[in-house]
Amino acid sequence: MKNWIDVTMTIFPEMMVYKNKDEKKPKITVRATHEVNGHYESSIYMDLHTGTHIDMPLHMLPQGHSSDDFNLDSVNGFGVVVDFSSEPTHEVGADFLSRYIIGKGDIVIIKTKNSYDTVFNPEYDYLDASGAAYLQACGVKAVGIDALGIERGVPNHPTHSILLGNGIYIIEGLALKEIKEGRYEFACIPLKIAGVEGLPSRAFMRAVELE
Ligand SMILES: [Zn+2]
Repeated sequence: MKNWIDVTMTIFPEMMVYKNKDEKKPKITVRATHEVNGHYESSIYMDLHTGTHIDMPLHMLPQGHSSDDFNLDSVNGFGVVVDFSSEPTHEVGADFLSRYIIGKGDIVIIKTKNSYDTVFNPEYDYLDASGAAYLQACGVKAVGIDALGIERGVPNHPTHSILLGNGIYIIEGLALKEIKEGRYEFACIPLKIAGVEGLPSRAFMRAVELE
């Protein structure tokens, strides 16, 4: 086993956020300083879909469960990184995914050109409905991607609905620049917040050496 690689986006006020919306940028406010208060304290205001985070079914499905019923085992375990970063198109579909060996219970991590963007790119790579259906048919337990949204501009959010509707969690905003395709162990530890639709998370991976 190799060392863990941190694949979490760093949270800071000017970080990349979905559609570059100002209201989605995290705000860190200093509440107390050593000079005035004798200690230092700050607070953060941020969207729950900031940086690396997990989407709960409630995000897209009115009857979907919230973080109260979140299952930690679903985002921790073994899986495969697929590398879409040298493909000329933006849609990760079933054709592309079928080149990889994906097993039941795998966590599938999709590396794309997005990992090389330093500002929000409206033309980001995303998982299309055919890709989501393919992964669901493979029996995967979670899907991660280096996009702040796993789909883009599709009415009714079929990718989210196919995955979340089948109990497959979505991890968005992974930082995968340093990651090559292959088998990995993946760990994702979200904040424990009650009753919400998104959980900011820390995520790590380490390569599995095949014998
Ligand atoms: Zn999200």
